[in-house]
Amino acid sequence: MLNETQIHRLAAAAHALRPGWPEKSLVTFLERHHANGAVRDVAIALVWVALDEKTVTPKRMNEAGPWWSATGAGDSPSPLHFDRCPEPGHASFPANNCSACRAEQLENDQPVPTTARPEQAEINRAGAELARSQIRRQREALGEDQPEQENER
Ligand SMILES: [Zn+2]
Repeated sequence: MLNETQIHRLAAAAHALRPGWPEKSLVTFLERHHANGAVRDVAIALVWVALDEKTVTPKRMNEAGPWWSATGAGDSPSPLHFDRCPEPGHASFPANNCSACRAEQLENDQPVPTTARPEQAEINRAGAELARSQIRRQREALGEDQPEQENER
């Protein structure tokens, strides 16, 4: 349960993070939708949502999202005995439920594979070659005699 003071403080905090969100609206929003939550959970989710650049309005908090699972990090009965996510900087999240990984996935609408598939690599290579030949043609047209400094195979 959030009391009125807590609601006003959280609204002020969110307003400080997102000056475009009027404090009064935040108070109304929190009273209406999150007054029954645990203050720590609501605070964490609110800050998470406020700091994510994909967030348009605080109403995003009403959806199920990584902002709510971020609040669960300390709730495990034996918080020291879970496997940590192996990704750099994710050590405070459990391996099977990593909020940081999900946040990163949200940032990339389509997760980019670390290694391009062979077909994609070929397309990339052909595209780069096309761009290089265009530049070369431009230079020739301009009469520039810059030395080619490409290491082509
Ligand atoms: Zn992770």
